Amino acid sequence: MPINYTTDQTICATCGTQYPVGSVLPRLCLICNDERQYIGDNGQMWTSLATLAKDRTIRFSQISDQLYDLRITPAFAIGQRAFLILSESGNVLWDCLPYLDEPTIAFIRAKGGLKAIVISHPHYYSLMAEWARIFDCPVYIHQNDAVWVQNLLQPSNSGTESGRHFGMVW
Ligand SMILES: [Zn+2]
Repeated sequence: MPINYTTDQTICATCGTQYPVGSVLPRLCLICNDERQYIGDNGQMWTSLATLAKDRTIRFSQISDQLYDLRITPAFAIGQRAFLILSESGNVLWDCLPYLDEPTIAFIRAKGGLKAIVISHPHYYSLMAEWARIFDCPVYIHQNDAVWVQNLLQPSNSGTESGRHFGMVW
């Protein structure tokens, strides 16, 4: 299953949140327009996964035998980091990045893939839909933050493709 390197400008360049490809975008990113974030100095800017793929990679830093720190380089959005946690019962990605590439997929697959993505708060929702699709795993978020989800995800047990990728924890 290849990455959808879409040229659609649906990724907020300030916070990295991806909106659904082909959707009508809001005038201002809903995440950035919240009082806890900000609209960029040049106003609302959008980018695409295809644009990011021109010069971005993901750097893995090993913290321990079972823990890696993942960051986009050069930095993008708000400098999100994610943790890859290796476990015999299944690997977990803690938080998410607004970018994904083939070397990253190959690295994680070589470690056994992902059993789940768990996201601490909406600044990390970023590209979670694409990560979940590529690794065919659920995303767990806090139910009180569900209002901030811009892409992916219908409530679980709907029996749909996207329904398999959504969970809420509290
Ligand atoms: Zn934004």
